[in-house]
Amino acid sequence: GANGGDNKAVRRKPPPVKRHETPSSSDQESWDQHSSDEAGDEDEDQESQDIVKIMSKLPKGVDPQSARQILNDIVVRGDEVHWEDIAGLETAKKALKEAVVYPFLRPDLFSGLREPARGMLLFGPPGTGKTMLARAVATESKSTFFSVSASSLTSKWHGESEKLVRALFGLAKALAPSIIFVDEIDSLLSARSSGSEHEASRRSKTEFLVQWSDLQRAAAGREQSARDKKEGDASRVLVLAATNMPWDIDEAARRRFVRRQYIPLPEHHVREQQIRTLLSHQHHELSDEDIQVLVHVTEGFSGSDITALAKDAAMGPLRNLGEALLHTPMDQIRPIKFQDFESSLYSIRPSVSSDGLRKYEDWAKEFGERG
Ligand code: ADP
Repeated sequence: GANGGDNKAVRRKPPPVKRHETPSSSDQESWDQHSSDEAGDEDEDQESQDIVKIMSKLPKGVDPQSARQILNDIVVRGDEVHWEDIAGLETAKKALKEAVVYPFLRPDLFSGLREPARGMLLFGPPGTGKTMLARAVATESKSTFFSVSASSLTSKWHGESEKLVRALFGLAKALAPSIIFVDEIDSLLSARSSGSEHEASRRSKTEFLVQWSDLQRAAAGREQSARDKKEGDASRVLVLAATNMPWDIDEAARRRFVRRQYIPLPEHHVREQQIRTLLSHQHHELSDEDIQVLVHVTEGFSGSDITALAKDAAMGPLRNLGEALLHTPMDQIRPIKFQDFESSLYSIRPSVSSDGLRKYEDWAKEFGERG
């Protein structure tokens, strides 16, 4: 998310493809990640073989260069996120399981009236776990995970953005089941941009909506022609999007997200759970009472604010060591104390104001589902 610098780090190069499953047949072996460190060259060979294989089943109309770019930059591999890693957000997790994970794992059960939605919007303040949720969905549904920030679709590959959008959807179908996760979706589907926007971003918005409609159509009746089928399974591709500015999305685009899930700031018990988890592997001497005080004073903090606070406080014991830090043995570093948190609270403040928060609550009341 906008605030969650962490998630960028997992967009490592070059994946080429992450299937969150253990391949069983020999045909699938090439999907496997050979992640051992010493096998650098072999890895690269394996990766280029994977890419060659994928490129050979590219759907028609997909530009090979854009496809390659997506395979290198956008298909995510990295540490997997599991539901338990995410504090709170029980309603959102449940909604995502029902709307995405179960249908992906049991497509036979989810047809007709149970046909899952093709798109889900996660909205709320920055740093509340939207990106983590999307990554957990990909892990738990054993899907290929494409993670793209909307601004990179509209600006980074200037002029090439339409082709890139087409390649994104084409590959997602070819590698289905797939999740296309678009962060900052507001910048792609914004209402304001429809007037005076750059030609390029208007065209990538149009292309995105066209491609997405095609998915929805294919899924609705499972009416794929034989040719479509050869190009991948459109019924097992889902668009998940996240935004900190849901009010910027234009009305027509908003309506396409049948499900709009509010991801709020963490409540009291969720903050407690998160703080306890963060401290669990640390040498500290905070009492239960201290933790209760922290939970109380972090009202209004997002999950990422709390993480930032704990990280800063954890530096406390090292700060006044100076150069001695370099040769002090581990067991002589003092534990983290409540006072470290107190000092950190001066610099780490909540990133959302109460006015800002009200705006989310209002939008959620009007257009969203509570999380
Ligand atoms: P968003 O996409 O909503 O902006 P992220 O999912 O990128 O936020 O979260 C940023 C960071 O904040 C995460 O990497 C994690 O360290 C922390 N974080 C946020 N929400 C939670 C949560 N519910 N549980 C645990 N950690 C969280």
